[in-house]
Amino acid sequence: MSTANDRVVVVGAGVSGLAIARELAPDHDVIVLDKGGVAADTSSRASGMISLSLEPFPEEWASFALSQFRDLDGRGVFSFTERETVRLVPEANADLYTDRAPDGGEFLTRSELKRRHPDSFGDLSAYGGGLVYDGTGSLDALDYAMTLKWAAERAGAGIFRDHEVRDVRVEDGAVVGVETEYGRIEADHVVYATGWRTRDLLDGYVELPVRPLRWNAVVIEPDDPLPDDCPMGSEPTMRMYWRPTDRGNVLVGGNEHLLSDPEGTPMGVQPSFRERVVEDVAPLLEGVAAGRIRREDCCPTADCASPDGLPIIDAPAEGPEGLAVVTGLHGRGVMLSPVTGRAVRSLITGEDPPFPMAPFRLDRFDDRSADFDYRSHWGPGGDGSGP
Ligand SMILES: Cc1cc2nc3c(=O)[nH]c(=O)nc-3n(C[C@H](O)[C@H](O)[C@H](O)COP(=O)(O)OP(=O)(O)OC[C@H]3O[C@@H](n4cnc5c(N)ncnc54)[C@H](O)[C@@H]3O)c2cc1C
Repeated sequence: MSTANDRVVVVGAGVSGLAIARELAPDHDVIVLDKGGVAADTSSRASGMISLSLEPFPEEWASFALSQFRDLDGRGVFSFTERETVRLVPEANADLYTDRAPDGGEFLTRSELKRRHPDSFGDLSAYGGGLVYDGTGSLDALDYAMTLKWAAERAGAGIFRDHEVRDVRVEDGAVVGVETEYGRIEADHVVYATGWRTRDLLDGYVELPVRPLRWNAVVIEPDDPLPDDCPMGSEPTMRMYWRPTDRGNVLVGGNEHLLSDPEGTPMGVQPSFRERVVEDVAPLLEGVAAGRIRREDCCPTADCASPDGLPIIDAPAEGPEGLAVVTGLHGRGVMLSPVTGRAVRSLITGEDPPFPMAPFRLDRFDDRSADFDYRSHWGPGGDGSGP
């Protein structure tokens, strides 16, 4: 367990590393090192959907993260916009929900949905209605990351870009620092928050069952800006989601899939994804079908998946003492980042966090190989049949 002013080196300045730095900086000597820029890898590409109440997470993770986003709203350059989310239910599945909406959700028929949001939805003829969730919202991922950086630096953290960490240094079974491209840095604790690369970077210290995962997103400018009360949404059979942006545009994302060669994969969004957005998703929203695509974003080095879809946030028993890892965020790393930060703080200080830690443990996996099939959050089997 840490003592006051212990040195913690955090490897990776994405939202995870920055959230960890913010948690630890008030009473530790924190250094964050990134081989590139701050949030320049996956984190800045995130769609900023905060849809914790729809995810298969313990309720305490959702309530903790939500309270942190609300607290941070208005600080730095960060704003958190709360909106409800509608998960559309295909006509054939509507009977499943008429008497029994899942926890936290309310089922509205198609006509009820249209009455509630008369200027938001377009052609919903294929849907029996939608499950409406509150406790959801959105943020700009880069503004969020920059605000975490600002808060961590104000609390004393040193955050350095263009510092590649080449190895963790271990003596007598405990970490003593890291080896960077510029030399050694001593540390009492080392946290790897290096996304999909973490498996390779820690090879020889601990085996992590994670695989690179890719997402695509586009921003469409509708004919007229979306109304202020336009909800966020998702369509489980297509595995697509959307949200209004601050400028009245709509961001549409989805198409997540495992990748075997992230660095050899082209950067552009896949044509099949673009077609699906234009032909199938845009008509669901009023005035968006005739809109223009303003931005295409894809992150071939993307995020990373774990076999059960939940992250690994642990100080694994088989690793050297003082080593903690964060990986396998499975496309949910921004919304979970407040939980990630507090979870790592608890691993380092021994304090109890206000949420369960057991689902994060590495030892829940007997098989640590990266040879597993993708498990989607969209529903049982990932086929959209579940809420
Ligand atoms: C298109 C898209 C949309 C998404 N939408 C959402 C969303 O709506 N909501 C949500 O919650 N999540 C979303 N995600 C997922 C989210 O972006 C990730 O889960 C999150 O950014 C992971 O953050 P991280 O800090 O763990 O990893 P990363 O952002 O990948 O950061 C890891 C950092 O480690 C650094 N690094 C790697 N190796 C080294 C080394 N050797 N030395 C030093 N530094 C190193 C990298 O340069 C990088 O900056 C989306 C992802 C994509 C691609």
